[in-house]
Amino acid sequence: MIFIVGVGGPRSEQKRDNFKTFCPHCRNEDYWIREKQLQNLTLFFLPVFPIKTDYVYYCPICHYGNKISKEDFERF
Ligand SMILES: [Zn+2]
Repeated sequence: MIFIVGVGGPRSEQKRDNFKTFCPHCRNEDYWIREKQLQNLTLFFLPVFPIKTDYVYYCPICHYGNKISKEDFERF
């Protein structure tokens, strides 16, 4: 029997702010995005379990941003 194991993703879940944030990188104001990025271990191309989760907060225009904690992601 052959197992095909790989790493899939990242799959992501996004939330958009309902207030504008000034971006120091591109100097625009926009509704920044909070994103949960999941990487899953896959077996026969099906996600089995998540191996890594990142939370990021970034500007939708230039994608400048930073990592945030899970608590910050879920607070909004
Ligand atoms: Zn920007």
